[in-house]
Amino acid sequence: MAHQSAGNPFQFIDVGRKAPSLKPIPDRKRDFVEIHDPYTQSEVTEQADRCLDCGNPYCEWQCPVHNYIPDWLQLAAEGNILAAAELCHQTNSLPEVCGRVCPQDRLCEGACTLNDGFGAVTIGFTEKYITDTAFAMGWKPDLSNVVPTGHTVAVIGAGPSGLACADVLVRNGVKPVVYDAHPEIGGLLTFGIPEFKLEKSVMARRRRLFSEMGVEFKLSTRVGEDVDFDQIQSSHDAVFMGMGVYQAIVGGFPGESLPGVCKALDYLVGNINHSLGFPQNPADYIDLKGKDVVVLGGGDTAMDCNRTAIRQSARTVTCVYRRDEAHMPGSRKEVANAREEGVKFLFNRQPVAIRGDDRVRGVALINTCMGPAETGGRQQAQPVPGTETVVAADVVIIAFGFEPSPPDWFADAGIDLDARRCVQLSTQRLPFQTSNPGVFAGGDMVRGADLVVTAIDEGRRAAMAILDYLDV
Ligand code: FAD
Ligand code: SF4
Repeated sequence: MAHQSAGNPFQFIDVGRKAPSLKPIPDRKRDFVEIHDPYTQSEVTEQADRCLDCGNPYCEWQCPVHNYIPDWLQLAAEGNILAAAELCHQTNSLPEVCGRVCPQDRLCEGACTLNDGFGAVTIGFTEKYITDTAFAMGWKPDLSNVVPTGHTVAVIGAGPSGLACADVLVRNGVKPVVYDAHPEIGGLLTFGIPEFKLEKSVMARRRRLFSEMGVEFKLSTRVGEDVDFDQIQSSHDAVFMGMGVYQAIVGGFPGESLPGVCKALDYLVGNINHSLGFPQNPADYIDLKGKDVVVLGGGDTAMDCNRTAIRQSARTVTCVYRRDEAHMPGSRKEVANAREEGVKFLFNRQPVAIRGDDRVRGVALINTCMGPAETGGRQQAQPVPGTETVVAADVVIIAFGFEPSPPDWFADAGIDLDARRCVQLSTQRLPFQTSNPGVFAGGDMVRGADLVVTAIDEGRRAAMAILDYLDV
């Protein structure tokens, strides 16, 4: 659907890119709440109207769920928020989440034609505005035309892939029953990503909405421990698994087991459980007030640890990354946010040992330079001999990412793994079908640790394959 600019066709020249206003830095350094104020309708009209409506919208191609971006930008510019929300939900099960946490600079906004000199359209903030505003206006998905098929599908994992799968199934008359080990839905959206990026009320609202749509949740239920996989498979017509990856990658250098060294997700979840009031062993909450903290890693998890430590009033927070800034895997906006909040970055430094006696005292680092790229991969960091220095630290947080963590029961369930220990998909049959024909899988446990929006995409496409499997 091509559209005319709602107002001035040269809006992109006259009006620059403008994100919603940011909260003052002293508040940001203290509060576990989102750092941007919401857009107003007049700001959205002004910003969304900057869209050029390119004939071939690169933003749509670069968005993993292929959102109809120019079309909902126009609806938002016109103030037609309910129609915009309907359109957002045609391609995305959690648009309000993606608007908040997608690395837009690498995806839709990175591909925006205006990104080349004028500043990309603020696609993410507009997606968030559309969905939040529609919810505030009482919008709900209309399922009145859905005809129940009588089929039920078990979804293991209430993270973005599982929720997206359940969303598509229930909209097609198939009843999803979602099992999760946690007491709340969201997976890493709730038990991983901190509130300053995604407030927990967002997922609580989604839980209410999904429940009203007919999705059943069986929470605090770990499949393989609280209920057998066989029992689940035999009581449903198909199974979708979106169980994520949770094995923390270690550095493999001396000193990693010293008191004062912790794993990134353990640290973040301890803080989230503390904030949300979920029961946990008091030792699992790590308070960094007054500490010198070193975070090792350059991805989104490392940025979340940096910024959580700042909010806990750490004395200093230093982030060490072995490549240069241009090669950081994390979202640019999160690196900028961390820097603004007081995180110090040391690029081209690689940890070689954690130093200490009865506890951590520092991290030994060696300088690196950027070497050639591995075949089809990123440029590698090469150590520069004779450049070792030590950074003082009371606490070291290791944020090197995650490896697959398949449970033992996969073997009995006939679910094959690939060489990386990710779930192996069948190439002979339906998309996202595993070696057990009644079982489908998607998200991080298939692709390896990735993004919220790619997990949503796979959950949605797996649901379509399940509908084919059930002949719905
Ligand atoms: P998950 O979100 O991991 O959900 C899996 C669910 O399965 C969990 O709830 C788990 O409890 C459940 N489960 C596992 N085993 C069982 C079992 N046996 N029985 C019952 N339930 C089970 N991505 C972005 O796009 N932007 C970001 O800013 C971003 N920040 C991140 C920050 C952190 C700290 C981390 C760790 C990741 C971040 N990511 C980010 C990545 C993103 O969160 C993941 O790629 C995404 O959540 C994967 O979705 P998933 O559905 O595959 O798995
Ligand atoms: Fe951009 Fe993510 Fe929204 Fe797609 S889902 S339009 S990549 S913010």
